[in-house]
Amino acid sequence: MAPHTEQLTRPAVQLRGLTRSFEGRTVLDGIDLDLPAGQFTALLGHSGSGKSTLLRAVAGLDHAVAGSGQLTAPDRVSVVFQDSRLLPWRRVLDNVLLGLDGKDADSKGREALEEVGLKGRERAWPNELSGGEAQRAALARSLVREPELLLADEPFGALDALTRIRMHALLRELWVRHRPSVLLVTHDVDEAIVLADRVLVLEEGRIGLDLTIDRPHPRSYRDPLLGEYRERL
Ligand code: ADP
Ligand code: MG
Repeated sequence: MAPHTEQLTRPAVQLRGLTRSFEGRTVLDGIDLDLPAGQFTALLGHSGSGKSTLLRAVAGLDHAVAGSGQLTAPDRVSVVFQDSRLLPWRRVLDNVLLGLDGKDADSKGREALEEVGLKGRERAWPNELSGGEAQRAALARSLVREPELLLADEPFGALDALTRIRMHALLRELWVRHRPSVLLVTHDVDEAIVLADRVLVLEEGRIGLDLTIDRPHPRSYRDPLLGEYRERL
């Protein structure tokens, strides 16, 4: 097989026996998981089930998991959190460009802001943005890094219901256009079903349920198909 073909078929994320405990309490108990490249996956689980711990491990932000199992992830990984984590003393465009250089960085940053619907807000300060706009900026900051894997930890958790629905449309649109692998952590069952092609449930330190969302894909909260999937969770 040619090397480039191998790369296309290799899963973007591969976890084998991943374990993590805090003060003797096991939170992740030997997780095995493959995320195929380009797939949109949602991770559900009740509060405290270890979703953020798993996401941090996949992001490479948790050095304590090293050696506890096997973890393979792409080089370019972006993470979006519930709070935008924009630096308040930098303008929106400068936040998006943080740490990037190269002469086309500026135009790429502007392009990313346009893609998320923030054209014209390049020079705004983070505290001049609404919650939804700040999350748009956080998405632009991720996007401009051309991630192979986008990790999102309850990115819409702090937004009102209507803004959330608009953000769903935006995230799905960005995913269709750029096709990163996505792992979206959420505690909102409907959000998981509407956005993802696969829904995982984390329970007792393991992936307790792995549900594929078939076509036709429920696309809105009003879709009757949503109820059918909800019953299977
Ligand atoms: P979730 O994101 O699903 O709500 P977390 O991954 O944040 O859950 O947490 C899972 C469990 O691990 C919780 O009981 C939490 O208290 C514990 N935990 C997470 N991070 C730490 C830490 N740095 N130190 C001690 N306990 C932690
Ligand atoms: Mg969490």
